[in-house]
Amino acid sequence: MRVAMIGAGYVGLVSGACFADFGHIVTCVDTVAAKIEALKAGQIPIFEPGLAEIVANNVKAERLFFTTSLAEAVAEADAVFIAVGTPSRRGDGHADLSYVYQAARDIAGAIGRYTVVVTKSTVPVGTGDEVERIIRETRPDAEFAVVSNPEFLREGAAIADFKRPDRILVGSEDERARQVMTELYRPLYLNQAPLLFTTRRTAELTKYAANAFLATKITFINEIADLCEQVGGNVQDVARGIGLDNRIGSKFLHAGPGYGGSCFPKDTLALIKTAQDHGAPIRIVETVVAVNDQRKRAMARKVIAALGGSVRGRTVGVLGLTFKPNTDDMRDAPSIAIITALQDAGARIRAHDPEGVEQARLVLDNVDYVDSPYQAADGADALVIVTEWDAFRALDLRRIHALMARPVVVDLRNIYRPDEMAAIGFSYSSVGRENSA
Ligand code: NAD
Repeated sequence: MRVAMIGAGYVGLVSGACFADFGHIVTCVDTVAAKIEALKAGQIPIFEPGLAEIVANNVKAERLFFTTSLAEAVAEADAVFIAVGTPSRRGDGHADLSYVYQAARDIAGAIGRYTVVVTKSTVPVGTGDEVERIIRETRPDAEFAVVSNPEFLREGAAIADFKRPDRILVGSEDERARQVMTELYRPLYLNQAPLLFTTRRTAELTKYAANAFLATKITFINEIADLCEQVGGNVQDVARGIGLDNRIGSKFLHAGPGYGGSCFPKDTLALIKTAQDHGAPIRIVETVVAVNDQRKRAMARKVIAALGGSVRGRTVGVLGLTFKPNTDDMRDAPSIAIITALQDAGARIRAHDPEGVEQARLVLDNVDYVDSPYQAADGADALVIVTEWDAFRALDLRRIHALMARPVVVDLRNIYRPDEMAAIGFSYSSVGRENSA
C-alpha cells in the first residue's frame, strides 16, 4: 500500500519508517525544509534508539521517501496519516488544532482516488468531524473517509511499541476504510492483529482516557511517596505490594519528580477542557494536574532542604535533563521547573545528559553543560538525579564522593539504595523512602 505521513516528528517518522519496514511504500512529508533535507542526507533529526538503522534500510530499499511536497505524496496515497503536533493552546490549555486543520486543507486539495485520511495525532473528540467537514467543503467530489487511529508508542521504545503494540485502535464507521486499515496493519502480525474497532469519537476519547489514567497512576504513587516520607514507609515496597495485584498492575508506579514530556501535561489539560465544555468535568484529572504542577518545585525544595535550607552560591550538579531516558525530548521535562526553581534560589547549575543537551540549551539559560556525570559532580555541593538514564545506574560512587565538595545526593528516581549510599558516606535523600528501614 502507499502511505503519506504528514509530519515527520517523533510519531510520524517512527510510524512511517516502521510501515516501510513492513513493506508499504511510505512518503514522509514535513513543512520544515531543513528536516526533510537532513533526512534525505541520511541524518535523523531526533534521538530514538534503532530509528536510524530502519530509516537507512528502507530508504535504500526504496520504500521510504521524504519530501516537502504534500500534494505529490497525497495524490498517490491509499492512506494519508496526519501526525502533526497538537500542543497546548497558549492561554487556555485546549489542544491547538491549527496544524491538524492546515494539514486537512492541504490534503483536501491533493486527494486523487479513494483515500483514507487517518488522524494519528492526539486530538479532542469531534476533531475527525471537523477534518471531514474541511475536506468535504474544499472537495465535494472527493472519495474519502476520515479515520481516528491514535498512537500509543512511547518515546525511547518507539520502534518496539509501534511494531508490537498492545492494541491498534481504529475509529471509523466506514467499512471500506476499516478494510484499508486492516490491510495496513496486517503485516505486523502473523496471526490476528489486535485491532480494536470503535466509532471515531470513541477512539479519539480513548487516547485521552489512556494518558489521563497513566498520569493519575503516577500522581497517585507520588502522593503515597510523600506520605511514606512522613510515616516511615517505603514507597517501592508499597508499589510492589499493590502492583502484584493484577487488577492494579506494576507499571507506572515509580515515584519520582512528577510526570512531564510531550504528551501527559498537554493531554491531561486538553481532556479537562473538553470535559468542562461538555458539562462533564473530570475532577480526578483536574486534581492530578494541580498536584503534578506543584510537585516539580517541591523537588527543588527537597534539594534546598538537603543542603541545609539554602543553595545560594552553591553548585548543584544535575544528572539527566530529558523527561525520560532514551530520548532527546525536553518538552515539559521536570528538569526545567526543578532547575529554574534552584536558580531562583541562587544556585549555580552544572548539568549532564547523554542526549538532551542540544534541546536543553533552547529552554534552559545559565546552565554549565558538561560531558560526563563525574564532571557534573566535580566540586558540587549537591548532586541531583533527575532522569534515570542507564548510564547513571552504576556510577563509580566512591569516585563521585571524592569529587564532590559536599557529599549530598538527591536521587529523584530512587535508583540507588539508601543503606549503600550511607555506607559510602553520602548524605542521601530519595523519594518516599527516607525514614524506612
Ligand atoms: P513533533 O512536534 O515531533 O512532530 C510534528 C511534525 O509535524 C513537525 O516536524 C512539524 O514540522 C510537522 N508539521 C506541522 N504541520 C505540518 C503540516 N501542515 N504539514 C507537514 N508537516 C507538518 O510531534 P510528535 O511528538 O511526533 O507528536 C505528533 C502527535 O502525536 C501529537 O498529537 C502527539 O500528541 C501525538 N503523540 C505523540 C507521542 C510521542 O511520544 N511523541 C506519542 C503518541 C502520540
